[in-house]
Amino acid sequence: MQVLSVTPEIFPLIKTGGLADVTGALPVALAAKGVTMRTLIPGFPMVMDAFKKKKAVYKYPLLQGGKASVHSVQLAGLDLFVLDAPHLFDRPGGPYGNAAGADWPDNWRRFAALSQAGADIAGGAISGYMPDIVHAHDWQSAMTLAYMRYGKAVGTPSMMTVHNLAFQGQFGAGIFGELGLPTAAMALDGVEYYGGVGFLKAGLQAAWAITTVSPTYAQEIRSPEFGMGLDGLINMRSSDLYGIVNGIDTAIWDPETDRHLVSNYTAASLKARAPNRAAVEDRFGLDRDGSPIVCVVSRLTWQKGMDILATAVDGIVAAGARLAILGSGDAGLEGALLAAAARHRGRIGVVVGYDEGLSHVMQGGCDAIVIPSRFEPCGLTQLYGLRYGCVPVVARTGGLADTIIDANEAALAAGVATGFQFAPSDGGALLHAIRRLAEAHASPAIFEAIQRQGMKTDLSWDRSADKYVELYRLLLSKRVA
Ligand code: ADP
Repeated sequence: MQVLSVTPEIFPLIKTGGLADVTGALPVALAAKGVTMRTLIPGFPMVMDAFKKKKAVYKYPLLQGGKASVHSVQLAGLDLFVLDAPHLFDRPGGPYGNAAGADWPDNWRRFAALSQAGADIAGGAISGYMPDIVHAHDWQSAMTLAYMRYGKAVGTPSMMTVHNLAFQGQFGAGIFGELGLPTAAMALDGVEYYGGVGFLKAGLQAAWAITTVSPTYAQEIRSPEFGMGLDGLINMRSSDLYGIVNGIDTAIWDPETDRHLVSNYTAASLKARAPNRAAVEDRFGLDRDGSPIVCVVSRLTWQKGMDILATAVDGIVAAGARLAILGSGDAGLEGALLAAAARHRGRIGVVVGYDEGLSHVMQGGCDAIVIPSRFEPCGLTQLYGLRYGCVPVVARTGGLADTIIDANEAALAAGVATGFQFAPSDGGALLHAIRRLAEAHASPAIFEAIQRQGMKTDLSWDRSADKYVELYRLLLSKRVA
């Protein structure tokens, strides 16, 4: 089976979030199951610089305002098609905006071009290559499915994966004329969205199947509260909607071999976490005592519930826990958390910034990681927490609800508990969960059982890849012969 994946990001070449981890890991996990996945990505500078021999397999005299070509390359163990379009992608800064973080005003054009190339490849533009299925990720590649629907590849099964419904790619109606779609596409059941053009909306409308990155989030986005304006459409498509939880890279995230850690350990040697814990105490200026250290590794945003955390910090300290917070984002939230650290010296420490190595040490040394998200399509930090014996304390939403088993009496008795859940996402419920955590922490036998159970959880991509394969097969069976 040949699957063409279309994505703006792929690990390890271009990454701004969990999307890249998924698109980078999936081809490897699928290969083991007899599925060949090739991935079309934009020719950003770091991608173009990574391969020397450039030989186009397809050329566009004109694609969204300039010359473009598609290159077939193998990089970092991945089979790629790279869309080289210097007028669109050869720019400094991140994949979506300049170095100051402002989005490029022509992002619609950049990702329409990526999508058009995806649909052209699906329609047989590259000699000797014809995918059986096309799999698009997020709004930046969603239009692939619209171009397919109104073009040659209308009969090719397609899948749209939503990694975060908050990002939709909404643009004014004025761009429609430049997309190269038939007039009929500017309709309620096409690309039209609240009077403008909706890229993700168009993909959701055209996809043969829609997936998101956890079963609970797949249900939540059917409601107005989580649907971000798309719940009506998602409900209409609910019979084609699936939730498949992400895996993690268990080679990179392995406490037994992780080079970022001060001390490596396994579930059988939890005491060897102590030097990591001491390193966290040093780095965050925390008192040295036996109380639980609860950490946060997060974007500091409303989605992540960081304002909820900020209102609960005094209570968390009063409950006897210490807090180590690593994050960056909203300036107001940074300020509120830094003020909390100043109020509670020795009990709360904050490092503002992005520090991959430190995030590993925190997972390897802290007792718990708290994730009070308002919504969470899948979430990765709770999965790393499970693997590192850093007990997740999570809001019961999206992927957090699907991956953590709450340490209630029944789960503890059955020996299946892996963390603590709370609902709703507010300060009172969060505090209650922290108190339950502190209570469990006071009984080493109970706490270590929860840690070990988490460390036993299968977090590999293998199971998720099976589910994608199953879905690809289902789509193939729907293809008209
Ligand atoms: P999202 O993609 O919504 O930000 P996820 O939990 O899916 O949330 O993934 C976040 C990833 O970014 C994780 O790998 C996490 O460890 C990492 N991360 C977030 N903030 C920081 C930070 N300040 N320093 C280091 N790593 C971070």
